[in-house]
Amino acid sequence: MRSLIDVVDFSVEEINELIKTALDIQKNPDMYSESCKGKLLATLFFEPSTRTRLSFETAMLRLGGSVIGFSSASSSSASKGESVADTAKVISEYADIIAMRHYKEGAPLVASENASIPVINAGDGGHCHPTQTLADLLTIYRRHGRFDDITVGFCGDLKFGRTVHSLISALSRYKGVKIVLISPKELKLPEYVIKNVIEKSGLSYVETDSLEEYMSELDVLYMTRVQGERFEDKAEYERLKDSYILTPDKIVTAKSDMTIMHPLPRVNELSVKIDTDSRACYFMQVESGKLMRMALIIKLLKEAKDKNPERRLLNPELVADKFKCKNPACITSTEQEIIHYFKEVDGEYHCAYCDAKI
Ligand SMILES: [Zn+2]
Repeated sequence: MRSLIDVVDFSVEEINELIKTALDIQKNPDMYSESCKGKLLATLFFEPSTRTRLSFETAMLRLGGSVIGFSSASSSSASKGESVADTAKVISEYADIIAMRHYKEGAPLVASENASIPVINAGDGGHCHPTQTLADLLTIYRRHGRFDDITVGFCGDLKFGRTVHSLISALSRYKGVKIVLISPKELKLPEYVIKNVIEKSGLSYVETDSLEEYMSELDVLYMTRVQGERFEDKAEYERLKDSYILTPDKIVTAKSDMTIMHPLPRVNELSVKIDTDSRACYFMQVESGKLMRMALIIKLLKEAKDKNPERRLLNPELVADKFKCKNPACITSTEQEIIHYFKEVDGEYHCAYCDAKI
């Protein structure tokens, strides 16, 4: 039985298949309106995220299924101290599929190891948010019809932006992709993403602090929010903050079919004056998210015939309980009697739940 914890859990072929289904759903919604009749989705949101939760719920309801769930930890049994593993076992007795958002990194992985129904990671702390990446991929495909040989600019907070890290990982599997990393030096893409994802896969990349420098080369411009609280030097923030706000004058040199994306919600980094430009695709991304979640639910329910949990932590290549993960945001810091698994990457050990290096 499959779950979706990280977007690279799915092969390129599987992602292509999801895109095909999503586009077919868009074309023929009535054909899918009873695809999940009688099936129940549980949205377990230990951390509030109304937009993501509503997207999952809409997806299931549009497929003719039903939804149960909660929208914050305080309204779940976690407030009484129930473990993620137990919650997953209990919900497996009620529902057919789980979408879980959790403030602890690795929580959906723990759930998938214990549930007898598929688990979709709907965001685990700062770690992964694979269904956002599926939405991003579908949007790029709808606009450009391919992933090979495209130039994608990422602008803003590249240090903490998990949607940026995930999309770079997903794109690293295609040919001829060029990445332009646009950020202030405080918010540069972390070294480990450059080393382990970009350089390892042979993606070509450049770094710049200017939004305009490579504008004319971009097929896609992925904007994110630059948060003032991330800066140690407030004067530096004041100096830079307006340079990463996308306004019509900044895209005068851009290609006429460039795609402007943003994971939303925006604050002020995207001027509303851009909204009417045909290149603005951030609301298309929202629709893509719903379509990909529909395709994903169909796929995982189809593959859920056998009720055995996916035990990826039993992988013999993992090292068990030799170290302890020190990341306070990791699920291993709170889950009862959990085995600390580590994977070896180039002689370094990384937590199997949160990917933190030991
Ligand atoms: Zn960890």
